Amino acid sequence: MVIMKLVIRAELENLTNLQPEGGCDEPNFTYYFKLHCENCGEVSQKRTCVSLNERVPHPNGKGTINLVQKCKFCERKGTVLMIPGHGRPLTLHASQRGMHSPLMLFDCRGLNPVEFAFGNAWWKAQSVSSCVSLFVFLLKL
Ligand SMILES: [Zn+2]
Repeated sequence: MVIMKLVIRAELENLTNLQPEGGCDEPNFTYYFKLHCENCGEVSQKRTCVSLNERVPHPNGKGTINLVQKCKFCERKGTVLMIPGHGRPLTLHASQRGMHSPLMLFDCRGLNPVEFAFGNAWWKAQSVSSCVSLFVFLLKL
């Protein structure tokens, strides 16, 4: 099992508390990424999307999970579980210090997210609109 932490970094000017419009744990906020198979090392061709409000039955029959996907190359099944409650808005203070802010944790088994991308989701920040350059990273914990 690997826990991945998705973090954001941005150069904020006259803005603070950058976060998804409905907050870091917004149920409909969609995350897009490709999946790297731990078994065969292949990376999926297409991006997969997950959001907190989309859950499927866990393959082990216990409860639900955010994503179950089979590797197209080796057919090994992997799962991704989103762990809310760890996201924080990116503040101007953190931005000026070049720090990043956590957005979401992913508990990954068999398939690890790579090449993260945002969809057309809305973000919000406080104060006047200004120039923002947004960077995202996935960190292995
Ligand atoms: Zn594979």
